[in-house]
Amino acid sequence: MLKVYPILCRAGIMNNYAYLIIDEKTQTSAVVDPSETLPIIQKCEELKTTPCYILNTHHHFDHTDGNLVLKQKYHCQVVGNIHDSNRIPGLDIGVEPGSTFNIGESTAEIIDVSAHTQGHILWYFPQDKIVFTGDTLFNLCIGGLFEGTVEEMYSALEKIKSLPDDTEFYPGHEYTMHFAKEAQYLLPNSNKLEQYIQRAQQRLSQGLPVAPVTLKFEKECNPYLLAKNLTELKHLL
Ligand code: FE
Ligand code: ZN
Repeated sequence: MLKVYPILCRAGIMNNYAYLIIDEKTQTSAVVDPSETLPIIQKCEELKTTPCYILNTHHHFDHTDGNLVLKQKYHCQVVGNIHDSNRIPGLDIGVEPGSTFNIGESTAEIIDVSAHTQGHILWYFPQDKIVFTGDTLFNLCIGGLFEGTVEEMYSALEKIKSLPDDTEFYPGHEYTMHFAKEAQYLLPNSNKLEQYIQRAQQRLSQGLPVAPVTLKFEKECNPYLLAKNLTELKHLL
């Protein structure tokens, strides 16, 4: 069993999420996308854990800025896409998309979703039905095309859609309410979307992240996942 602790970073500015994850059986822990250091160190101290790994989804600074300081403090290893080894700060272990990587007894599948950036990967834990989507999939939106084409994004989204419906996803930013209006405009009269937004507002008002949401719910409400083909996705971008 993998426990996930979301950590809001760059609060009020970029609203990144880093995640502290702990494999319960072995108590092995890791940090996903350390956007900055302080809030992550606080969470590690609160939970009395020393992370063994840093897992990066992609090279952007708002996902990797904590790499070097945390690596020095905890003597942990930085793990990321081997094909992005010269852009991920402090990379120690390059993983090949299509392979797996273990956090204690929890196994992650590495899935290539190059589009937001070349070399962007998903960290997918099939036994726990958890996926970290970085800047590829957000609540009610998707990431921008910095280094990829619409075709690449379409195929990345197809990969996410092919994961089991009850998989819970954890995105790289809290952007939900930012995109709620656009989603409502694109999907008028969607009861599911109204439910989604109501739940999101409730969670945010309690200081909780909107994540996790199941891929089933996301597929019903996220206009970009609802695009039936490449042409429909192109119209949204
Ligand atoms: Fe990014
Ligand atoms: Zn980002």
